[in-house]
Amino acid sequence: MPRRRRPPVDDVTDADLEVHAPKSWAAGVPGVIRALRHADREMGVWRSLRTLRELNQKDGVDCMSCAWPDPTDRKAVEFCENGAKAVAWEAERLTVAREFFATHSIDELAARSEYWLGRQGRLVEPVYKPAGADHYEPIGWDAAFGVIARHLRALDSPDEATFYTSGRTSNEAAYVYQLFVRAFGTNNLPDCSNMCHESTSVALAETIGIGKASVSYEDFTKADLIVIMGQNPGTNHPRMLTALEEAKRGGTSVIAVNPMPEAGLLRFKNPQRPSGVIGRGTPIADLFLQLRLGGDMALLQAVSKRLIAADDAAPGTVLDRAFLAEHTTGYDAFRAHLDGLSEQEVRAATGLTDEQIEEFAQRYLAADRVIVCWAMGLTQHKHAVATIREIINLLLLRGNIGKPGAGACPIRGHSNVQGDRTMGIWERPRPAFIDALEQEFGIAFPREHGADTVESVRRMRDGRVKVFVAVGGNFAAAVSDTVATEQAFRRTRLTVQVSTKLNHSHAVTGEEALILPTLGRTEVDRQASGEQFVSVEDTVCRVHASRGNLAPASADLLSEVAIVTRLARAVLGDEHPIPWGQFEADYDTIRDRIARTVGGCEDYNARIRNEDGFVLPHGPRDERRWPTASGKAEITVNTLDWPRCPPDRLLLQTLRSHDQFNTTIYGLNDHYRGIRKGRRVVFVNPEDLAALGFADGDIVDLHSEWRDGVDRVAEHFRVVSFPTARGCAAAYFPEANPVVPLDSQAERSGTPTSKAIVLRLEPARSHAGPPA
Ligand code: SF4
Repeated sequence: MPRRRRPPVDDVTDADLEVHAPKSWAAGVPGVIRALRHADREMGVWRSLRTLRELNQKDGVDCMSCAWPDPTDRKAVEFCENGAKAVAWEAERLTVAREFFATHSIDELAARSEYWLGRQGRLVEPVYKPAGADHYEPIGWDAAFGVIARHLRALDSPDEATFYTSGRTSNEAAYVYQLFVRAFGTNNLPDCSNMCHESTSVALAETIGIGKASVSYEDFTKADLIVIMGQNPGTNHPRMLTALEEAKRGGTSVIAVNPMPEAGLLRFKNPQRPSGVIGRGTPIADLFLQLRLGGDMALLQAVSKRLIAADDAAPGTVLDRAFLAEHTTGYDAFRAHLDGLSEQEVRAATGLTDEQIEEFAQRYLAADRVIVCWAMGLTQHKHAVATIREIINLLLLRGNIGKPGAGACPIRGHSNVQGDRTMGIWERPRPAFIDALEQEFGIAFPREHGADTVESVRRMRDGRVKVFVAVGGNFAAAVSDTVATEQAFRRTRLTVQVSTKLNHSHAVTGEEALILPTLGRTEVDRQASGEQFVSVEDTVCRVHASRGNLAPASADLLSEVAIVTRLARAVLGDEHPIPWGQFEADYDTIRDRIARTVGGCEDYNARIRNEDGFVLPHGPRDERRWPTASGKAEITVNTLDWPRCPPDRLLLQTLRSHDQFNTTIYGLNDHYRGIRKGRRVVFVNPEDLAALGFADGDIVDLHSEWRDGVDRVAEHFRVVSFPTARGCAAAYFPEANPVVPLDSQAERSGTPTSKAIVLRLEPARSHAGPPA
């Protein structure tokens, strides 16, 4: 099938930005039409049919977008609008022509928007920016690996390099990548988890002993109550709405807690049901609590306090005392701590009434089986770890972990972000994992902890990291404090990006830079031993295979596994004890090593060939076995914290639009929030606007205020009057990332606090229009 050329795309100006009323329901027939139109425009009919009919099917292609699980009983259509866009974005037929980089300087690319960069097509050959040059130029693969090897060998210490992983990377590529990085001699393995669910991993490991969800897909229909906190499934995990709808039809009640009245939390029109096509669809939230940003911890403590009070009033009828006695520790201290909880402070932190909190408590009390889901709305706060510990406290009070229809369910954002961690992508490896690697490969690996994402930026800024390598992702745009991050990148000697398409990180380079193009997940991966498949892990610990079926965008592309293993040979030599060449030739040989070194992956090659894959073991979920220090689930005491904000300021959260996945911008619309043809908007409650002296349609600059006194600015945003919680504002990332201070991080997890920025609006100082 010949590649086609799309006519040149104009860059985004926001000049035609339109603001409409927000929607009160998600998906439905319009969602299907948007998905199919998008797929047809990017891939054409034939490729759309080939890819979409296999998307998320058994033995098909795993969606490269979010980590929402697949049901074991699959329908003919198992994808959402976002999944179709993600596939179309990767599988489009346009490619970046060789003359592109000669025509466009790196400075010019840096001034382009993510949208424009992504629409230039697939990258098909390695390109190199020599020192002093302002253009990339073609380079052969061997020469490219030679450049990296030269730089890595010239370092005084392996810790002067850092190696990032995006959540798209397969288990096989992640395993060989961490093996190479550790064989090279460092644990500098930052990943996108550092920016999203790190707070979850820390909190769950401390309380239940394992940093992963304790539920299965099937648990959703068995739950009496599902609580959705700080998560917007309609835009970020759309097929979760199908699971919620099924649960609702079976009588499950749903509480949604969010500062924004997101359409997907209110009503779902399932296009696969008549009621979703011609009817009103299914209401999702039975109780919607419009919480002030960061007030979740106060809400959870207040609900737990009410449960304990109810049990005091009718002893033994509310709390699961047998479970508490047998499986938990810390209850008495927790109870004593909640005695001192100030209801006045709870009201100030949450913005909710006593009646609303009481209704949450009553619904929780009435439910035998409860699932609590959460995402970035909880994890990107200073006190995120403590907040998630409070979710566990609440669940433990009534034994809601380790029984059907109940549990903790962090919803991961990128398709294999969880699997990459399982495979050892982590800057703080456990000693047992390093022991296993050393025993398997017979060489020593570093044990000293490495740098996470934000720490890597600091080290680049300070000249302590000189080489940056990324397998996937768009690091420079994704990380907070854009100006500081870009300055840090420009101080390095070499930046290397393994990518399928252009993004902003390719335009923010070190002295030298490489872009190494790779196969997409939709493409056939053929190696010396034949066609390969890869594997991934979803948000509920199921590991399954993914197999591409399209011809690669170019014969010159290498898979991520091939890139990593060839790089390892270039850096470490062909005589290395780790058989890199064998790994490249046959991915089964990687899985054999995974089976022997990663807990729960025994017999990997056989089990991954089951049509549903296999589920990794989870002590608390499977047998109420708690791999914590005490051997029990830990009920914890957490000092109440919530983000304070002066009365003439707003609290800002950054979020995605509906036409966006992480930093990838598929289009310029955010249908559910009523935004079309633009992205530089800031959503503010109308009463706040009036109090601050601004009006809908004003053009403002966003200034953040933080303890270091630096005036961080994101310019030229249109004010949109929106029914968000009082005192809270929202703007899209990455456009709003410049106002998130680099050192403003969640306690103990280090996650950037992108949901709690003190914001000052000022009239735009430039009338020249928005930056790209
Ligand atoms: S819900 Fe997530 S994984 Fe499923 S098709 Fe949509 S974007 Fe892909």
